[in-house]
Parts: sequence; structure tokens; C-alpha cells
Amino acid sequence: VKRVYRFGKDAQGSNVTEGSAAMKAVLGGKGANLAEMANIGLPVPPGFTITCQTCMEYANAGNVWPEGALDEIASYRADLEQRMGKRIGDADDPLLVSVRSGAPLSMPGMMDTVLNLGLNDRSIQGLIAQTGNPRFAWDSYRRFIQMFSNVVIGLDGDLFENAIIAMKQLRGAASDTDLTAEDLAELVGEFKRIFSENASPERYPALVADGQVTFPQDPELQLRLAVEAVFGSWNNPRATLYRQKNKIADDLGTAVNVQCMVFGNKGNTSATGVAFTRNPADGTKEFYGDYLVNAQGEDVVAGIRNTSPISELKHIEGLQEAGTELEEVFVLLENHFRDMMDIEFTIEQGRLWMLQTRAGKRTAASALKVAIDMQREGLITKEEAVCRVEPDQLDQLLHPQFDRSATYDVIARGLNASPGAAVGKVVFSAADAVAAAERGEKTVLVRWETTPDDLAGMIAAEGILTSHGGKTSHAAVIARGMGAPCVCGAEALKIDAEAKQARIAGTDIVLREGDVISLDGTTGIVVLGAVDLVEPEITGDLDTILEWADEFRTLGVRANADNPEDAELSRSFGAEGIGLDRTEHMFLGERKQIIQSFILNDDPESRQSAVDALYEAQTGDFYGMFKAMDGLPVIVRLLDPPLHEFLESPRALEVDITRREAAGADARSLAADRELLAKIDSFVEANPMLGLRGCRLGIVYPILPVMQVRAIATAAARLRKEGLNPHPEIMIPLVSTVAELEKLRGVAEATIAEVCEAEGVELSIPIGTMIELPRAAVTADQIAAKADFFSFGTNDLTQTTFGFSRDDVEGEFIPQYLAEKLLPYNPFATIDPGVAKLVRMGVELGREGNPDLVVGVCGEHGGDPDSIRTFHGIGLDYVSCSPYRVPVARLAAAQAAL
Ligand code: ADP
Ligand code: MG
Ligand code: MG
Repeated sequence: VKRVYRFGKDAQGSNVTEGSAAMKAVLGGKGANLAEMANIGLPVPPGFTITCQTCMEYANAGNVWPEGALDEIASYRADLEQRMGKRIGDADDPLLVSVRSGAPLSMPGMMDTVLNLGLNDRSIQGLIAQTGNPRFAWDSYRRFIQMFSNVVIGLDGDLFENAIIAMKQLRGAASDTDLTAEDLAELVGEFKRIFSENASPERYPALVADGQVTFPQDPELQLRLAVEAVFGSWNNPRATLYRQKNKIADDLGTAVNVQCMVFGNKGNTSATGVAFTRNPADGTKEFYGDYLVNAQGEDVVAGIRNTSPISELKHIEGLQEAGTELEEVFVLLENHFRDMMDIEFTIEQGRLWMLQTRAGKRTAASALKVAIDMQREGLITKEEAVCRVEPDQLDQLLHPQFDRSATYDVIARGLNASPGAAVGKVVFSAADAVAAAERGEKTVLVRWETTPDDLAGMIAAEGILTSHGGKTSHAAVIARGMGAPCVCGAEALKIDAEAKQARIAGTDIVLREGDVISLDGTTGIVVLGAVDLVEPEITGDLDTILEWADEFRTLGVRANADNPEDAELSRSFGAEGIGLDRTEHMFLGERKQIIQSFILNDDPESRQSAVDALYEAQTGDFYGMFKAMDGLPVIVRLLDPPLHEFLESPRALEVDITRREAAGADARSLAADRELLAKIDSFVEANPMLGLRGCRLGIVYPILPVMQVRAIATAAARLRKEGLNPHPEIMIPLVSTVAELEKLRGVAEATIAEVCEAEGVELSIPIGTMIELPRAAVTADQIAAKADFFSFGTNDLTQTTFGFSRDDVEGEFIPQYLAEKLLPYNPFATIDPGVAKLVRMGVELGREGNPDLVVGVCGEHGGDPDSIRTFHGIGLDYVSCSPYRVPVARLAAAQAAL
């Protein structure tokens, strides 16, 4: 196998590059694009790239070099020396190189780079002689020792920074550039001493000479240690975490680029900078970036000195030519890569050198504008434009944000569960949030975790903060559905809801009710005090891209919504119907009393009057929903959750009774409450998710589905009489056998017929089922014979396929599973291949059983771009997701089709 590829020119000036942009998997992004730039004639300092595969072999063997690799590197090093006519470490005219990491996918700042390698106590003299610039030479040497010590040996960078500060103080120098050659030479001595005192002789026996560790003078050893360090940086904790967050595989490895140094720190006609070919914040077509005169490497990014805008470069004495050439290069790169590019360059004594280019990271607004502009400029096709925008990024555009120019201190971090920013007074209960909203106050609801009981408070609050629970915890799911900002699982928060305060662990901060905090659900941070917010930028560009996306996608997109406002919102976002209307969400607030009275009263009379009241209320609900979605399908799911979810917590009641008893309360009222407690207790189940819920409720209490179907049909009949075009569909949840479906279908059909008769209207209301239990998926052919449609409830299907209780596993062991790679990702966020196999089986069997079957998915996965790709592949008819995910799903569905 070939492990090393060269790039750049030879001694005669001909291009001898072996790689190209197509070889990112082998050469990494940086190496592949350095090769590509050399191939299109841009000035790239020559060098060679060691492959990503070598990194993986080295790492997998326990940091042992594969056979022959070091020899191959040595021969490419000799080749580079021959091309440059200089040798690394030479005492008269030394070649200096950088050793740069570069993975196949961009991982900015995650891994390591060493500059000025090859300097030692002898070659420094050669560099001084060649350049006639001792200050530059000593500055380069001190930078090399500093970077090598930090990156390769792992010494604390502060040791060196402090020595520089001390030197500046001693000399009364304001800036680094005020230090003289002599000062820097002295610093080099100081740095070498720091190195000897701090590097471990046990870890680096090769560096021990005369019984003490010394800074390595042998360039070959310098190079080998630096390459090994870059390989090692692939597995450093921050790179590992970054990959996990960005779903980048751990087995890609990083390439190592060894490249001749060019110097931006050779005086006032030298400079270094970074630039974008367009504005990465808003997409404006303008050159964007910064440079620093007489500086090297990361000085620009590190903010050591104030930088100047790139547009000024071509007006600076001595830099005009390079500045003008750079602008030509920007245009050339855009035309070649057909994308907005991000560039690193250096100017050495008036001469421009390109050090890196890649597709520039950009905000959602910028991504939209650049894609549309480039399509209009004829640079890319419409299909490409649609693929240029990250679907998940669209979320940024749909919610208020922290003003990015604001400064603030983060007091806690959690999961970025639902995007957008919120500012408000802390409240610790849903009731307090509601009360505050009535007074016109903005609040942030802070809870250990939320429950269905908190819904009113969640709606009233600007944002939701929990100390427990994962990205699909109750708080997260509901918040995303509402489009409310939410940070969940902020573990540093030690909440005492009773005392209405929360301690921030590890600090002496205590949040009390009424304190103002800000949270950013896009990044998962919590800030004390009010951060300025900016309104979301909804521009015409979003519309344009989504319209283009609609031309290409074959998957339908519907929304999960249970009230007319959300339905209208989702319709304005482009939803083509409601895929899931969870009727239990209509049983909250004042309706809760009614359903409680249904559950807790055995006598048929009270039951009937409760059901009548529910019927009235639900008819109104459905009327509003069908009207908002006139002409489009609305799938209403019959009551699904276990009944105890509608009751008070027996624990709270028990505590209350005990307390009142101790206080000597009236015996009769205590007895009544004890009876109530016994009643509530009788509804408590050991495994409520597997208990009396879904279609089982309708079978045990047929009066409930009759009421709901009657309300659905009546609302539809009324709208029909008003000349509208309602399209309700009835969905029966949690079916595991066809017999269950058959029975409830019979009930529903009979009820619909009664309503048609009574109202004198013809209604055809499709009746279907959710496929959310493995048994339903594997007997889908039988079930489909009795169903007009299937909707895959992938949340429950994931729970029941894995045997994972979603509410319990996310905070507990899924994080550990992810860390130990027992799971590649959270299966509640992105559909698992095993669960997807059941979906595929359900679809295929279902269509066998009923060729006209309409199939969709309505779990959380319906709004996840990776899952949408899977669903497109399976051939579903549509996905259904929360209103705010509708634009995301439209775009993801188009990308899946392209
Ligand atoms: P990162 O991937 O963190 O951006 P790089 O490998 O791009 O790291 O190196 C960081 C910076 O170091 C570059 O932007 C450039 O300014 C400087 N640098 C790297 N190699 C060279 C070189 N051969 N000559 C001059 N400067 C270099
Ligand atoms: Mg770089
Ligand atoms: Mg379900």
C-alpha cells in the first residue's frame, strides 16, 4: 500500500502532485485540497501527506508503526529536500516544515499542528545567515519550542506564555513585536529550560541525554514525534467528543501533512490571514476575513493582536500585488469548487501562498442565500442548491436567538433540547408560570423534569429548563412540539422546588423565584440575567429553497398537532395534513376534571354525564382542527395513555392525608380522601407503558371510542354542511392483533353510520392503525386487511423492540452505551436499523394485505433528517413531525430523493 503522497512543485517548477480533491478519505480534507489547489496552479508550499489509513493502523496496533511506513516517510522527506534544494536541520540553509493534522471531515481546532519544525541550535544559525533577520529566526525557534512542547509533549502552554509576559514586563514591551532578537534568543534559552524541567523522562526516554531531558535537536526525531502526536490527537478526548456529537465515524483517522514553511512573520511585507469567499454569516457576495501583518499561524484566530479586514489588504504598501492576486484566487476557487470557500493564506515578503481551503462553515441564513445565488449565477444546479443546506440548520431560522454580539457568563449547561432563546423570571411550578403569565410576566419554568401536568405552565413560560432527562424526555418533546426553547438535563442544577430555589453545583450561585435567567436551547446554555435576543430571520430564501425541495421530494410531510393554532402554523410551514392528533392533549386543563370524574365514578349515570361533557368539548376541538386543515387529511388518534396519567399523583395525596391527620383534621374528610386514594391506587400499574392503554382502553371502556368517533363524525358533518371539505381519519393505537382492530373498527363504523343517519350527510372516514408493537409489524398483512392506513409509531416501536423504557433509559444508561459504543447513536433520536427493519417488514406485508394502504410515520423520528432518509428508502408515503420540524422534513425528504 502507498502511504505517502506528495503535492506541489519540484525543483524545476513542474507540478508533481500525486493526489486530488477526490481523495479526501485517504489524504484528509486538508491534504486532498492542498493537492487540488496545486493541480489548478495555485501557489502551494510543497510537501507530502501521510494517509489516514496509516494513522488507523498505527493506532490499532497500540501506537506501533506499520512495517515500512517510516522508510516511506523518510524517502518522501528526502524527495522534498531535493525538490527544495535544502535539508531539514541543515546548519547553513535549513528547510523548515509544518506538521499538520487533517481528517476526512472537517473537525476545526480538534487536532494538532506544529510549525517551524527542523530548527535546532545549529540550524538557527543557518536561518539567521540566510535571511539576515535574526529577530525573525529567533521568533520562529521560540514558537517551535512552544508548540512542540505543548502539542507533542503535552506541557502546559501557560508555562511558556508566562515566560513571554515576564520578558515583556522586564523590557517594558507593549506587544510581542516589540521584543528584540536578543530578547527572543534569551526566551529560547528559557523555553529549553522549562522543557527540561517539565518533560517526563519516563515517557520520552529518547529525549534523555546526559541524565536529563533535553529539547530534541535531531530533526528526524522531531519529525517522528510530531507525526506520532498528530496521529494521537485523533483520539484525544475533545476530538472523540466532537465526532460523537457530529456523528463522525471513529475509524476514519487523520492524515498528516508535512509541508514547507512559508513565513508571514518576516517583516512588514509579510502577513497571514483567513478568509471566506462570501459572508458566512449572511451570505452576502463579498470577500470576508482578516489578516495580520508580520505574524504567523494561529495569531489571527487567537486574537493576540487586532486584525484588519481583508478588503484593505490590496491597499497596503508592499502587499498590493499579493492582495490583488488573493482576490483573483477567491474567484478561481469558487468557480473550481463551486461553493463558498474558507481559505488560509500567508504572504511571505510580498509573495502569496495558499495553505488551506475547504467549503466554508456558514449559518443557515448564509447557506440559503449562497445556494440560491450560486444557482442563479449558473454555478450549481437547483438539485445541488437544495443539497447545500443542512436540514437541521433550518431550526436556527425559526426561533429567536441570543444576540451574538452580547457577552454573558454561562452558569450551567444541559442538552440543547429545543432551539431558540428565552429570557424570563425563574419559576419552579407550572402553576406559578401560569399565574405569572396572567400578570403579564415572562418566565422560565425550572423543573427536575416535566410531566403532562406541567403542560399549562410550559405553554405559559418562555422557556423550559430541567435538571433531568434526555433529548426526547417529556420536556424536550413537548417543547419542540410547541417550538419553545428548552434546555434539559442540566445536572448542575440542584432544585429544591419546595423552597423555590436551585443551587448551581460547584458555584455559590443560588437561583430564587423571580431571578431573571436566559437560556439558549440552540446551544444548551443557561445564563444568569437577561441576554439580548434577536428575532428570527425568516427571509424569502427559506421559502425559495423549500419550494425547490418540494419539486424533488416524493415523501409527503405532515405535522403532529392537536390544536387549531398549531395546525395552522404547520400548514403555513407547508404541512400537507395532520399525521397525528393526540386527543389526550385535549383532556388537559379544565377538561381534566371531567375525565377524572369519568374514571373515578363507577355509577353509569355520572359516567354518562362525564362522557357527554367530553363529547361536547371534543366536537368543538375537532371542528377547529378540521377547519384549520380544510381539504387536507387529519388523522385523529383515539385515546392512548394509561388512565392514571389523568389522575392526581397518589403519592402527593398520601402525603397530604398523613399531614392533615397529624394536624388533627376532620375524620370524615380524611375518610373520603382515603377512599379516593384507594381508587387512584387501583389504577396504578407496574408497567404502565405496557398496560391498560391504546386500543385496550377502547376495548375495556367502549364508551370512550364511541364518544370520540361520534365527536369526529359530527364535527365533520357540521363542516360539510357549511360547505367545507373536512378529511378526518381515525387511528387506533397500540394494536397487536388484527382481532383488536377488527373489533374497534366495527365500533367506529357503526358510530359513523349513526352520525351520518342523524346528520343526513354521507361521510367516508378512513380507519387505520398505528404499528408500534413488534407483533403488529410481523403480522402486518393480516392487520392491513382491516386497515385503510398504517402509521408507524416509532417511539413506542423503539421502546418495545429494544425493551427500553424511554423515560428511564435516556438519562441512565444510554449515555454510557454511547460512550462505550454499544450503540452508535440514540435510537430514540435517529431510527435504529433493527427497528427500521420492522418498519420495512410492516410496509411490505401491509401492502401485500392491502394494495391501497397508505403508510406513514408519526414518531419523533419523522422530523429527523437521517431517519427521513431511511423512511424514504423504505418507500413510506409520508412522515409526520412537530410543526417546527416541517420545513426541516421537507428539505430532508428532497435530499433523500436526490
Ligand atoms: P487547523 O487545522 O487547526 O487549522 P492548520 O494545519 O491549518 O491547523 O495550521 C494552522 C495554521 O498554521 C495555518 O492556518 C497556517 O496559518 C499555519 N501554517 C500551517 N502550515 C504552514 C506552513 N507550511 N507555512 C506557514 N504557515 C503554516
Ligand atoms: Mg487550518
Ligand atoms: Mg405510541
